[in-house]
Amino acid sequence: MPGSVGRGGGVETSEIGRGGGVRASTALVGYDEAVSRYDPLIGLETHVELGTTTKLFCGCPATFGGEPNTHVCPVCLGLPGSLPVPSRAAIEYTIRIGLALNCSIAEWCRFARKNYFYPDMPKNFQISQYDEPLCTDGWLDVVLDEPEAGADGSPRTFRVGIERVHLEEDTGKSQHMGGATGRIHGADYSLVDYNRAGIPLVEIVTKPVEGTGPLAPKVAHAYVTELRDLLRSLGVSDVRMEEGSLRCDVNTSLSPRGSGRWGTRTETKNVNSLRSVEQAVHYEIERQAAVLDAGERVIQETRHFHEDSGITTSGRSKEEAQDYRYFPEPDLVPLAPPRDWVEQIRAALPELPAVRRARLQEAWGITAAEMTDMRNAGALGLVEQTIDAGASPADARKWWLNELARRANDTGAELASLPITPADVAAVAALVQSGALNDRLARQVIEGVLAGEGTPDEVVAARGLAVVSDDTALNAAVDEAIAAHPDVADKIRGGKVAAVGALVGAVMKATRGRADASRVRELILARLTDS
Ligand SMILES: [Zn+2]
Repeated sequence: MPGSVGRGGGVETSEIGRGGGVRASTALVGYDEAVSRYDPLIGLETHVELGTTTKLFCGCPATFGGEPNTHVCPVCLGLPGSLPVPSRAAIEYTIRIGLALNCSIAEWCRFARKNYFYPDMPKNFQISQYDEPLCTDGWLDVVLDEPEAGADGSPRTFRVGIERVHLEEDTGKSQHMGGATGRIHGADYSLVDYNRAGIPLVEIVTKPVEGTGPLAPKVAHAYVTELRDLLRSLGVSDVRMEEGSLRCDVNTSLSPRGSGRWGTRTETKNVNSLRSVEQAVHYEIERQAAVLDAGERVIQETRHFHEDSGITTSGRSKEEAQDYRYFPEPDLVPLAPPRDWVEQIRAALPELPAVRRARLQEAWGITAAEMTDMRNAGALGLVEQTIDAGASPADARKWWLNELARRANDTGAELASLPITPADVAAVAALVQSGALNDRLARQVIEGVLAGEGTPDEVVAARGLAVVSDDTALNAAVDEAIAAHPDVADKIRGGKVAAVGALVGAVMKATRGRADASRVRELILARLTDS
């Protein structure tokens, strides 16, 4: 439907075709309509940079960043005569990931050469794995927190099959300078940084995820979230999507609803945030539905996702495996991890995130939905540490999810990056529990800690925020309030106890909120009634 607006209120986008020409603009089909007539099928390929000390085949540091071309040597620069030596740590990390994803670990496998030219890959081939990956055939359960997810309102679980987990070396990085877009088209010149070349990279490939229906974008989001948490718990990577240590390629295809056939898929490359993973699937469903509605064929190709507009555009036609002329890497012996080593790694696996969440949910007596809220807010670890520091589960959740989440939201910061520690929050909760602070004062203490005024105790001392608990001082304030409001006092004497609020308010005002309101109420009623 060139030039027309898609049904269902879709918008038009024009896209750059291969070869640089502008193809006819593509209309979209509204999402609800698209999934009412088509079944989405998704698949995800996730690349994880491992957090090993050294690169995969040499002793160069595998750390992120650094002055360009300072973390390099003859091996990772691909100089003639250099030979690779595999990192035991990288292989161990890969096995750890495979075991945590319920995979089988190969008894014998090989590295393979993947041949292609790119300026950021100095050998003109990448050492990867092809038909003999280290880990195969696993699964990961992911939980959706959609209200429509479960019939009884409980979260719905999807089991995502894992096809393979293999180990390969990362490439360097090209920077295209002088152009408006940062892409090579229109650039004046390009710079290459080989610091990243040879950093161990694990690729985790799912099996096609069927049966998600309209939930496909949510399942993709939930899968990458769970995988990220899992990898973090394994200590194998810092999994920072914004720094590229976790990168996702998202495959999407559509087939007519109920046909049981698989459609032609597109692969959206290097999607670098959880939100973008969801958006990329969402967009491809709307776009492909329009292509199919127009009687055209979806082109098998790689596509680029644009963070700013949330759309994908055509990249290049998808290479087939044979284009890479894979063959076994002749410079490396086969990889045969001894079984007892694999079992040692299995025995040393930490508690995995799903197990940990179930344990904490029970220990804290909270619902699945409350656990989901806490996880979505990035508060799980913080709440756990606050409880470890002595706070009750209810207090720890209250302060992190209400007061602190609100402040983080106001400033656009991550909860974990707020300048307050779990120990500080536990200290504030303890001051409230002991009666030294009320909630209002506690919020001021938190404000002081966030402003860099010191620990909670220091803020209390410096701002003079302690509750006035001395009855002599309170009684004086009560007497003043009664004297200042004789009419109210008369009402209470006459039995209208509800009027006490006005006097409590006057005392709270006089003490600048530092009194314990329930104690003030008791003192006033003791003074004015027989009770
Ligand atoms: Zn090196």
